[in-house]
Amino acid sequence: MRVISPKCGGEWRPYDWSTEPHQRKPEPDRRIVSAAAAALVLDILSDPVARMPGFGSDTPFDFAFRVAIKTGTSRHFTDNWAVGTTGGFTVAVWAGNFSGQPMKQVSGLTGAGPLLHRAIQAVAERYDPGALPPPRSEGAVAVRICRLSGLRAIPGCPAMTEWFMPGTEPVRACDWHQGGRVALPAEYAEWAGQNGLGEPIRVAGFRIVAPLDGDVYRIPPQIDARYATIALRAESEGPVRWWIDGQPIHAERWVPSPGKHEIRAVSIGDTAVVRIEVR
Ligand SMILES: [Zn+2]
Repeated sequence: MRVISPKCGGEWRPYDWSTEPHQRKPEPDRRIVSAAAAALVLDILSDPVARMPGFGSDTPFDFAFRVAIKTGTSRHFTDNWAVGTTGGFTVAVWAGNFSGQPMKQVSGLTGAGPLLHRAIQAVAERYDPGALPPPRSEGAVAVRICRLSGLRAIPGCPAMTEWFMPGTEPVRACDWHQGGRVALPAEYAEWAGQNGLGEPIRVAGFRIVAPLDGDVYRIPPQIDARYATIALRAESEGPVRWWIDGQPIHAERWVPSPGKHEIRAVSIGDTAVVRIEVR
């Protein structure tokens, strides 16, 4: 058993099972990720607001002190786990049947989660949870960004403060919020339509925006073909028709097959071609 914990500042450390402190194995520590990357990940995983899209607002992961939480659920609900890290200690809980029998719709949230909550509370009565390293202590800078575009917020943007390592922060000002309306790039047309976020920006010229020329896709194993499709999107003033390897496609999503493919989009008086590979 070994632990890679961001709490160790991104270092891999040997782990041994013991209730008493004793001599560490001679294996040396090894850096897995930078201390700064570890601090950013901890900041994300310990943010109770960032958890809401995945878990909702009523979860077993809220504490009086800051805890970075990660859950996992294996395929077919065979088992699940939840790990919590504070500035002072780490607790991991596994839930499952020792026989390997799948459980009935039990995820890391509903299975290991409540157990983790009780375990962390119990540990915190004996050990100080301490404080997780703030990203600033590892050199991160705080930047006001637009919550929709991820670009630098301008007045009128729904804004939030996000941490970045110096040199990775966005430099461009948001141009999606324009005079009280939202104008999304064409790549987001389908998503914007589903979320009621207005019309995409219309740009002169005709081009395929998805997939992009040279894209390489991998078909995930054991996933129903219905859920492994490639979106076909073009930036165009008018209607678009699609051909793949010379065959007409009458849908906006394509079920890929392994191999190299030529995707052709035709609009009034315009043709665009990209080539992709599916592995
Ligand atoms: Zn904006």
